[in-house]
Amino acid sequence: MDGLIGQSDGPIRLAVFLGVFLAMALVELLWPKRTLSVSKGKRWLTNLGISVTDSLVLRLMAMLAVPVAAVAAAFYAQAHQIGLLNNVAWPQWLKIVVALLALDLAIWAQHLASHKVPLFWRLHQVHHADRDIDVTTAVRFHPVEIALSMLWKIVVVVPLGASPLAVFLFEVILNACAMFNHANIALPAWLDGVLRMFVVTPDMHRVHHSVLRREHDSNYGFNLSLWDRLFRTYTAQPEAGHQGMTIGLTPYQSEAPTKLGWSL
Ligand SMILES: [Zn+2]
Repeated sequence: MDGLIGQSDGPIRLAVFLGVFLAMALVELLWPKRTLSVSKGKRWLTNLGISVTDSLVLRLMAMLAVPVAAVAAAFYAQAHQIGLLNNVAWPQWLKIVVALLALDLAIWAQHLASHKVPLFWRLHQVHHADRDIDVTTAVRFHPVEIALSMLWKIVVVVPLGASPLAVFLFEVILNACAMFNHANIALPAWLDGVLRMFVVTPDMHRVHHSVLRREHDSNYGFNLSLWDRLFRTYTAQPEAGHQGMTIGLTPYQSEAPTKLGWSL
């Protein structure tokens, strides 16, 4: 299976990204949760512009320092038999499950750190400055934050000994889940309730984009809702309600966050 991953996984990533992106954008049009406060055209152009910049930065990193990518790190660990999962005789499926869980916890911890460490918070504010939250918010991350995230994944992948397939699956799932939980979609309350027993739903993640500090310092998860419950950083609903709450950051309730230059 690992043979699939590596040089040829690009089209699969792109197909999943485009498929989920278009599906979410369509559902947002049909069943929107909140009325957006800023013009969608400008915001989308900026958010997608940031995303393109991110891809270029990752490409550049890959060109400069032999594939600096989490998948490449997994291949390296496998070839050299480094890391926990490369040295145990567990069935393949179990190794993949353990790797997915460990990576999800690692990204949860990174997100927590990006709220608690001042320098990381500066970078992460680009994501939170968005005054509306929809599918494009999911790709609105400062390129330096994206680069740091990639390095962090490498730091986790090698001692863990996660297989290239597990890392690939994790990255694709994370990307799809982020687009789902940032989407401005109105799920029926019962469906939201069932889903959030397992995964982070749009209503759960919207709390995290509140201007109120105690609300945006909660619900750090992107995939599983488990970590926030386990570490007591879970907030079920926004105090002002999903329609009444203000999204973004208090100092930046202007047009500025819709501009690409300002954001970067
Ligand atoms: Zn955050």
